Amino acid sequence: MSRPKQICLLGATGSIGQQTLDIIRLHPDKFEVFALTANTSVQVMLRDCLEFKPSFAVMRDAKAATQLHGLLAEHGAGNIQVLNGEQAICDVASAAEVDTVMAGIVGAGGLLSSLAAAKAGKTILLANKEALVMSGQLFMQAVADNNATLLPVDSEHNAVFQCWQQAMTSQRRNEISKIYITASGGPFLDWPAEKLVNITPEQAVSHPNWSMGQKISVDSATMVNKGLELIEAHYLFNLPSKNVEVLLHPQSLVHALVEYIDGSVITHMGPHDMRVAISHTLAWPQRIVSGAPRLNLLSEQATLQFRPIDEGQFPCLKLAKAARDEGACAQIILNAANEVAVAAFLQGQINFAGIAGVISETLSKQPRVTITGVDDVLAVNKQARIIAQESIKEPALYV
Ligand code: NAD
Ligand code: MG
Repeated sequence: MSRPKQICLLGATGSIGQQTLDIIRLHPDKFEVFALTANTSVQVMLRDCLEFKPSFAVMRDAKAATQLHGLLAEHGAGNIQVLNGEQAICDVASAAEVDTVMAGIVGAGGLLSSLAAAKAGKTILLANKEALVMSGQLFMQAVADNNATLLPVDSEHNAVFQCWQQAMTSQRRNEISKIYITASGGPFLDWPAEKLVNITPEQAVSHPNWSMGQKISVDSATMVNKGLELIEAHYLFNLPSKNVEVLLHPQSLVHALVEYIDGSVITHMGPHDMRVAISHTLAWPQRIVSGAPRLNLLSEQATLQFRPIDEGQFPCLKLAKAARDEGACAQIILNAANEVAVAAFLQGQINFAGIAGVISETLSKQPRVTITGVDDVLAVNKQARIIAQESIKEPALYV
């Protein structure tokens, strides 16, 4: 029997992180946790450290790390090494002992650790789509140069991979005519544009089909998430943008469709439960039990409807497509402005329609530069955040 895979779980306390631990818990013979990392959530980290006994626990936040260190000692688990800061997260993601890194941090905060895993030649299970949106070409180059293995966790991209076995090695791409990723439409599908202006954070984070972290829930409601996913698919599968499309599919049963040049369309169906994609990547190329419910194709909700998206209803999707078509610098600005705008929306500083306003303002104000390395990515990201914060201060525009 082969030894258990050593897992480094980045973003352990989040929605993806916790579901990853659910699967690891089911298969103690197959996986061992080498490191858990989080931002500030000490209590969840404490509980999971006591259960999974990693060698390392890393908190991004120094105060949280000190607290965790004390609590672990009190609970007789002082042998777990507690570190803090972004560099320490990068260090555990690239440690020699690690086989597989789950990149489950949300947003730009996951870029450097995901990249560190790529540079160390790890198997990277990529949930952190923002890393790819910010640094697509650089990231894919780091994967190729260091013989890393990149497996998509985002459900639509994981579905494409399942329909097209060679997707991640880009072989036989000439056999593919198009890929479609599906969108459920979020909680506000078919709402008129006037009603969308004053949606509350509570409404925005209550997704009809999926249970996810706050940021991606708001991203799904504005549909910027599908825009980020189009960019993600373009880099992951090395396909021209025109060959990747979004289909509205409110039932969320089909996650992607791959159309081949002979007219065959291969689709992936499954319950809307991230444990399907997470377990697929954890065990790949094998299959394991995920704990997700079975799909009931005989239920009344199991009809399949597909529609085009009304982009007029979702300005953030339109902005994301424009950034995709423009290139790397615009994609970094889009991502940063969106992160700032979503945080401001969740804190009640701007209204729902203001999210598109902040992105649009930032994209129009920020000068473009050529992106040749990670330092360029970080500099553009930083500047975009400053410009986006400035635009939030203009209350007349957004509240
Ligand atoms: P979440 O907010 O639930 O969890 C985020 C995790 O990252 C937490 O553990 C948090 O402590 C950590 N974190 C946050 N900021 C950090 C920073 N600056 N440095 C270090 N750690 C930090 O988010 P989530 O919903 O689990 O999403 C994680 C990623 O997966 C996102 O990129 C999201 O787009 C993607 N994704 C999520 C789902 C889902 O169902 N939740 C589906 C597809 C893709
Ligand atoms: Mg997705």
